[in-house]
Amino acid sequence: MNWSFHNPVKWIAPLAAALVACLPTLAAAQSAPPVKPEWCRALPRPEYKTLERVPVSDPWFEVYQVVPRVFAVYEPHQAEETISYLIVGQKQALLFDTGMGISDIRKVTARLTHLPIIVLNSHTHNDHVGDNWQFETVYGMDTDFTRANAKGSRQDAQDELGPGMICGDLPKGFDSRSYTTRPWKISRFLHDHDRIDLGGRTLEVLSTPGHTPDAICLLDRAHGLLFTGDTYYPVPIWLYRPETNLDDYVASVKRLAALAPQLKLVLGEHNVPFAQASVLPRLVTAIETVRAGKVVPEPQEAGKAIYRSDGISFLLRAHALEGK
Ligand SMILES: [Zn+2]
Repeated sequence: MNWSFHNPVKWIAPLAAALVACLPTLAAAQSAPPVKPEWCRALPRPEYKTLERVPVSDPWFEVYQVVPRVFAVYEPHQAEETISYLIVGQKQALLFDTGMGISDIRKVTARLTHLPIIVLNSHTHNDHVGDNWQFETVYGMDTDFTRANAKGSRQDAQDELGPGMICGDLPKGFDSRSYTTRPWKISRFLHDHDRIDLGGRTLEVLSTPGHTPDAICLLDRAHGLLFTGDTYYPVPIWLYRPETNLDDYVASVKRLAALAPQLKLVLGEHNVPFAQASVLPRLVTAIETVRAGKVVPEPQEAGKAIYRSDGISFLLRAHALEGK
């Protein structure tokens, strides 16, 4: 660096160049839209090209008919990329989850069917129950966790709007400050093995605790469909929250894997709405491999870690497996 002050031209020129280089950046920072969050750059996800898209007027949602009379209602503008399913029978329809409650899923589903709609949740985390309050008939699992969540909450909802969580525009008129998970009334309590007859289509409730104590899957045996909620979806499966129980989760995924030979399709609730049934036995092997300590964790923020095995990934507390 001894050249710089001895020859002013040599140090003024680079300094001026550096300043000039900075100026457009500063100007751009003031006028440019916020940088796209990393997750949002992966959109649109290519898997959706294979599905029939159903036009809807609310730009917050994208709707796809995955198989006849089964609609995936997808929320691609928020980092959870939550998917709810409208499953239509001949006499009534069932809405398996109501999404974030950021826009109005009731309006969208009313356009997709004129039949009465029963709401049932795959589990009662905030990103799946957001519009429950809008529906008259909401079934719930008979658990304390479900009853507690039905009282509503604010913090989890607010966290969904944090930095980097939104891709594109929030709905017009949406008020971030007042966004909460609103309370809802449970019309009827359900238990493992209960059946819901939609007319020409029967759904069986499978209690699959683990992700939460009230996690369920829905089995449409006649059509070979298994709706897996957050027990399986094709990106890191969240198993880090205090209400998660890993022993229960392993038992639940074993129960699901036993169904695989009868299934045509597995429909999870985040990012992409379909997977092959063969993923279920692989899911058992993957979580058991992880729990056996055979996977090197990838540390994430806030004391979490991703564990990957055979293309399936889990988000756990970084020290969840210690002492095993
Ligand atoms: Zn969840």
